[in-house]
Amino acid sequence: MTTSLPNAVAVIGAGTMGHGIAQVFAQSGVTTHLIDIKPEFVERGTAAIHKSLARFQEKGTLTADQVALTKSRLLPGTDMGALAKVDLCIEAVTENLEVKGKVFQAADATLPPNAILASNTSSISITVLGAKTKRADKVIGMHFMNPVPLMKLVEVIRGNDTSDATCALVEGWSKALGKIPVLANDYPGFVANRILMPMINEAAFALMEGVATREAIDEIMKLGMNHRSR
Ligand code: NAD
Repeated sequence: MTTSLPNAVAVIGAGTMGHGIAQVFAQSGVTTHLIDIKPEFVERGTAAIHKSLARFQEKGTLTADQVALTKSRLLPGTDMGALAKVDLCIEAVTENLEVKGKVFQAADATLPPNAILASNTSSISITVLGAKTKRADKVIGMHFMNPVPLMKLVEVIRGNDTSDATCALVEGWSKALGKIPVLANDYPGFVANRILMPMINEAAFALMEGVATREAIDEIMKLGMNHRSR
């Protein structure tokens, strides 16, 4: 399914993930509100976006005009009232059910009735987050990967009450962003973190048992499994 992008998006949380998500929407032509609790957090997120855009310009991936247009589409702030005019809101706040629950309730109260409310959570139940709202059929997981502007995957998580229409819309929007959406059901850690976390633990056990040095474990996983080094 191909879907044009939403007209306007709000990203709540301007940290590592939130600023990256806001950047890809703004780069794709979408009016993008970037919201956090304090002006300094919003400023930090905006500065990180500007730095990333400058790197893309240096590499020739973006022109100066594209960078200027992207910046002009970014609307940073602390006012949740901005949600009143968006088609999609992506929550990317701290990984804590209580914090996310409050954000979901506040977002649900302000978003237009038809807007989609997505979470970038790594592991919290989408069904539980949906139950905090009166729009559980429009609540979905959009799990972007870090760093968002470079990583293609969006793990799309369907909660028990998420509708087919919401899944189709979000898959279409993800493709229009240049990402590859892959659907998962609502289990702890979904797919990405369910598999990643035991692997990271196993590396620690391998070191503890003396299977190899820290450097050797790193090298074996980078070269042998094609994992990137940062
Ligand atoms: P982060 O700590 O870098 O950023 C979180 C931001 O949320 C902070 O700027 C904080 O001020 C803000 N925030 C907290 N409460 C808020 C509220 N009530 N309203 C508005 N903003 C609020 O965290 P992060 O690494 O960007 O993670 C965000 C989400 O993305 C988490 O759910 C995490 O599990 C998920 N995630 C993280 C990664 C990663 O590699 N960091 C990858 C995929 C998914």
